[in-house]
Amino acid sequence: MYCPSCRAEFREGFFRCEDCDVALVETLPEERVKPGYVELATVFTEGEIALIKANLDQAGVDYYFHGEQAHRLAPLPFGARLMVREDQKEEAEALLGGTGQP
Ligand SMILES: [Zn+2]
Repeated sequence: MYCPSCRAEFREGFFRCEDCDVALVETLPEERVKPGYVELATVFTEGEIALIKANLDQAGVDYYFHGEQAHRLAPLPFGARLMVREDQKEEAEALLGGTGQP
């Protein structure tokens, strides 16, 4: 038996992980896989996220904000990072006005 939360293995007879307070499972789910089929590039670190999203949606650029979820719970030491496909990085940068490079 395994804890689906901390992935610890338990002997027969255990049905609950005391640490995580969750029911054990027979088999662990697959490791959560990242979207590995594309290279992601960081384009932008600060700014109006809603505005950036609108621009990218319009341009058809795939993206996600790394750290955006955590941002709602507690401020991150860094802003949410905008991740886009490597092959759309230039397009995204052009849309957003570049990354501060000369
Ligand atoms: Zn656990």
